Amino acid sequence: MTAMIPYGRQNISEADIQSVVDVLRSDFLTQGPAVPAFEKSVAEYCGVEYAVAVNSATSALHIACLALGVGSGDSVWTSPITFVASANCALYCGAQIDFVDIDPRTYNLSVEKLAEKLAQAAKYGNLPKVVIPVHLCGQPCDMQGIHALGKRYGFKIIEDASHAIGGKYRGEPIGNCRYSDITIFSFHPVKIITTAEGGMALSKDAKLAKRMQLLRSHGITRDVNEMSHAPDGPWYYQQIDLGYNYRMTDLQAALGLSQMQRLDEFVARRHAIAQRYDLLLAGLPLIAPWQHADSYSGMHLYVIRLKLGEIVSSHRLVFEALRAAGIGVNLHYIPVHRQPYYEGLGFKAGYCPEGEKYYAEAISLPMYPGLTEEQQGRVVNALAEAIR
Ligand SMILES: *Cc1c(COP(=O)(O)O)cnc(C)c1O
Repeated sequence: MTAMIPYGRQNISEADIQSVVDVLRSDFLTQGPAVPAFEKSVAEYCGVEYAVAVNSATSALHIACLALGVGSGDSVWTSPITFVASANCALYCGAQIDFVDIDPRTYNLSVEKLAEKLAQAAKYGNLPKVVIPVHLCGQPCDMQGIHALGKRYGFKIIEDASHAIGGKYRGEPIGNCRYSDITIFSFHPVKIITTAEGGMALSKDAKLAKRMQLLRSHGITRDVNEMSHAPDGPWYYQQIDLGYNYRMTDLQAALGLSQMQRLDEFVARRHAIAQRYDLLLAGLPLIAPWQHADSYSGMHLYVIRLKLGEIVSSHRLVFEALRAAGIGVNLHYIPVHRQPYYEGLGFKAGYCPEGEKYYAEAISLPMYPGLTEEQQGRVVNALAEAIR
């Protein structure tokens, strides 16, 4: 019995291992030099001024919302086809959440639907404070369009780029925040680069960055200029806001810094795998990922959609047959508004029809740099078998 081929997995080199061991032998396991070095590396790569490393993308989303002033009485909008964290962050702040249905080609939040929903909301005086576009599978959203609507209706933008580090939008690195206030990345092991657990929030705005630095570490400052009065002595610090312990460790940051050296290689390899899938799957009754001309995807996921009208089997049976054949397929994602917790907030089936249709057809095939041609061949054969 050969092992299950996972849908995603980390790629760890001897250099990565050595970099973590070096930190273990050093003076600082946390709050040392590795965290700022990793932040600098990502900021320079993305061409953005500030980067704030934290212990997860979920934490990054939370402090990004707080930094933008999201609180009770506010509304935050995101896509229904995302991980729950993209929506939960609004609820952590006591705000309302709402969903904008997806574009049927990119599966990202639809800018047309966003424009319609904003026009409605403007009439009723319940415009969102923040919109969180999610770059699903690594493909950037129509950020120019969303940014223009942000200017018109006065909302802020957080890009959830958990899938998208190493990707580009209109030829520029995702993370440069040209069309947003804050961009967040995830470094969970299935994502493009990893720190085991970890995330980062990027911004061009010094004030936002400073606020997020404060919030990731209890709201405590050692900066005299931020204190209400002169320090009592050399030991002194002040808590000036209610923050959290969302810090990244130096062990994690060292791993991330080492992984950054291979980021472009990882994304190029993912694209090569995607192109080979495109070729091998041509002719099967399914829709392969469509890429917008503005996009160079981070290619976190390779999602196919079954043409259910052209096959005898069902979505569920195809999925189960693949798992039985040792292919660790997955489904990204269950529409967030269909989760029981969200249904408890009043969301119902049919609220985002495009997203729900996508959920009924989508399957994520294995996609990671270490996937061999032989393994990819097994995935394609098992899929062809399952839908025959
Ligand atoms: C993985 C993911 C997150 C959460 O990332 P963590 O680092 O695990 O907290 C948020 N949003 C999206 C779209 C993700 O894929």
